[in-house]
Amino acid sequence: MSDNRCIQVLPEVVANQIAAGEVVQRPASVVKELVENAIDAGSTQIDIHIKDAGRTLIQVIDNGIGMSADDAVTAFLPHATSKIRKAEDLFALSTMGFRGEALASIAAVAHVELRTKRQQDELGSCVCLSGGTLESQELIGCSKGTNIAVRDLFYNIPARRKFLKSNESEFRNILQVVEQITLAHPTLQFSLHHNGQVIYQLMPENTHQRILSLFGKKLDGKLLSVQVETILGTITGYVGTPESAIKRGATQFFFVNHRYIQHPYFNKAIQMAYEKLIPSDARAPYFIYFDVEPGKIDVNIHPTKTEVRFEDEKAIFPILSAVVRETLGKSNSIPTIDFDQDDAPFIPAIQTANTSQPQTPRVTFDPSYNPFKSSGYTSKKPSDHWEDLYQQKESNGVNKAEEDAFSGPFSLSVNNTSTSSGTEKWEIPTETENYKAVQWKRKYIVAFTQQGIKVYHQHRLHARILFEQYLKRMEKAERYSMPLLFPEVLEFSAQENSLFTQVQDELVAIGFAFEPFGKTAYQITAIPEGLGDSNPAEAVLDTMALLQTDVTAGKQQQKQWVAQSIAEKSAIKAGKELTAMEMQLMLEQLATCQDATYSPSGKALAYCLNETEIENKLK
Ligand code: ADP
Ligand code: MG
Repeated sequence: MSDNRCIQVLPEVVANQIAAGEVVQRPASVVKELVENAIDAGSTQIDIHIKDAGRTLIQVIDNGIGMSADDAVTAFLPHATSKIRKAEDLFALSTMGFRGEALASIAAVAHVELRTKRQQDELGSCVCLSGGTLESQELIGCSKGTNIAVRDLFYNIPARRKFLKSNESEFRNILQVVEQITLAHPTLQFSLHHNGQVIYQLMPENTHQRILSLFGKKLDGKLLSVQVETILGTITGYVGTPESAIKRGATQFFFVNHRYIQHPYFNKAIQMAYEKLIPSDARAPYFIYFDVEPGKIDVNIHPTKTEVRFEDEKAIFPILSAVVRETLGKSNSIPTIDFDQDDAPFIPAIQTANTSQPQTPRVTFDPSYNPFKSSGYTSKKPSDHWEDLYQQKESNGVNKAEEDAFSGPFSLSVNNTSTSSGTEKWEIPTETENYKAVQWKRKYIVAFTQQGIKVYHQHRLHARILFEQYLKRMEKAERYSMPLLFPEVLEFSAQENSLFTQVQDELVAIGFAFEPFGKTAYQITAIPEGLGDSNPAEAVLDTMALLQTDVTAGKQQQKQWVAQSIAEKSAIKAGKELTAMEMQLMLEQLATCQDATYSPSGKALAYCLNETEIENKLK
């Protein structure tokens, strides 16, 4: 009999654990559910306590309506909700909850203790559950509201517990959720504590103040207010001035009816409004709040996803774009920004001109600026630093040792963006008379060799050289640091601070020095030698932005990112005029690099054209 039986009904506990996987992916999802429940309960003050990024404890205390003794138990049953009675309610859902799955799911994968009391009740209740089973239930004295503690998340599912990322990463997810919720409800009071430390203490305030409370002074004076009435509802909020645009990690938020959403399509509408005001790869911060009739949106695409569909997205798109554009125009955000010159688009030497492309912004550059100067800093530097070699060559003539270092045949592999060349090697003879290098448009170094013509992107070429030098130094634990006369201050949001601490050691290894300057602020007191006049704070932020692309990356990758961002910041820019000697030195240095094909960020260093290709073109 039992031999014929393959199908079994899953025990309820197991079924709940599986269902829980959909709702409770990580500690941050628990925080989200509990805080949203607190908001739905009409709370005005919500305190969040986290231990060990939520592994050990997630506790949310609110002053909302509380629950009766019966409800305190019922709340944990699957599909128990006070928020939907009929199926139609689903479409008019203006609360946060999603169909009574959260508490049941959380209780299935943790130890939960709930204390709750309604205003009208004398006594409150305390309910304890473990792995989905009710363990105790008693009446207790407590204040009005709900206090729920979730301990040892995934204690009964080791596989899931193992699947959690580092504490930094999990806590960053929590911070993200808290940012989203607190921005959506600026009039509510919130606090967030991690391992006993206060991370946020947010008093009731207006949206603008809340944005500044969360993201600090760096957005102060850079936000423009947006407001428009449409047939579909109101759109209000703030957008950043073009000057506030950054390449990575811009704070961009959409909210619909006090709920954070992601909306790539509307994001495009806003990005369009900034067109030609900011470089195409930059992003401006925005905080946009939609207030629409609940019936006009569909929030239930997936309960844990933050996607929302609007009834008439196509109609909102142009309105949104126009209102942002108009706001930017009104504020006189005329495109006077100093375009980033460090990585001007690389235009291959042979390409049919595309006139519809926006013109590359003209770069203003200071001709007296000398990136090769040693900034008055003296130290024993390794002689492989080409800037020094250049200076020595210029003043003393070439010394024998260096000449040796560069002698002998060496080859560069051809970058295969060219049509035919494949794996053939390009030789660049060392003696000057064998090849000529000229600068073109103050952007490219064109080297004429026996094998053909190579057009190097000067910034990327230099960045590659510096990148390998920085990496070598970090590996050898050689720190070349230059004290800053006027320390620069870095102010971080809680989330940025957690990113920063993750990569701080690597930044120090490359030559930075930091001193604490308040809870989440630091002074940069020294910078890596070679960074020159580049903005050190930006260099740090660039590194963090790279880290954000994969917060689980190991130390080796982090080292590379640090070297990459510092190299790209230090490298000569487009617009910098180069002497023949400088160009030659760079090409020689490149020949000693491990990779002579790509820039540290993976872009092509050069465009190559060999004789056959030229002959083919001229047929
Ligand atoms: P949902 O939020 O979708 O209704 P949950 O599982 O999150 O489902 O919560 C179940 C029910 O428990 C809610 O509908 C609500 O009645 C009650 N509840 C949960 N948290 C609170 C709270 N902090 N204060 C008051 N009631 C709560
Ligand atoms: Mg809920």
